[in-house]
Amino acid sequence: MAQSTFQGTIKRRGLMLVLSSPSGAGKTTISRKLLHLEKNLTLSVSVTTRSKRPKERDGVDYHFIDQAAFDRMVEQGELLEHATVFGNAYGTPRAAVARALDQGSDVLFDIDWQGTQQVAETAREDLVSLFILPPSTGELERRLRARAQDSEDVVQGRMAKAADEMSHWAEYDYVIVNTDIAASVADAQKVLHAERLKRERQVGLRDFVEGLRTGD
Ligand code: 5GP
Repeated sequence: MAQSTFQGTIKRRGLMLVLSSPSGAGKTTISRKLLHLEKNLTLSVSVTTRSKRPKERDGVDYHFIDQAAFDRMVEQGELLEHATVFGNAYGTPRAAVARALDQGSDVLFDIDWQGTQQVAETAREDLVSLFILPPSTGELERRLRARAQDSEDVVQGRMAKAADEMSHWAEYDYVIVNTDIAASVADAQKVLHAERLKRERQVGLRDFVEGLRTGD
């Protein structure tokens, strides 16, 4: 999607794009495609105490840490938000996010509704939240099973949690029903591109307009 290169010369503060959904709604696929398509978007890599799945890489998908290290990060205020999901602790390291936003880079978060609520309380002006819904319960279950990375117990647990997770849709700025991945990715890009143009995020506008008015 074309973007004005001139607009890119005006200093801008980065935004926090949060994607949430019940597992199996397609969030991970949408995230990956967004990261591939959007140069100025980086993924916030969370810390978690859950075990690594076979295809996951430490430091790329998550930083896999133990409970003691997690507790230490909480204690020292190093996490922007944290929550327990399916019995495991997850959290967003604060420093990398602050650095990216200051540099005008946008950060993508794959976090749940608990984390989104915390970010909304502490950094509402930087937050753009997007909730992804599956087209139907049957499709959700099919996607969860096709994944086959988790045991039957875990799949059942996640199906049970999905209804609960979905009840939080109304707390989000934008909602996408993911019937088609390409269309959902395009919609997420539209949200991102529009939000980048928000006046408050274009912190260089004041100087730019001043220059226009004085003829500099
Ligand atoms: P999974 O274990 O399948 O990778 O993720 C389980 C759930 O935890 C997903 O809904 C995911 O969005 C959420 N999650 C992952 N990282 C974080 C985090 O740093 N904070 C919060 N609050 N939730 C997270």
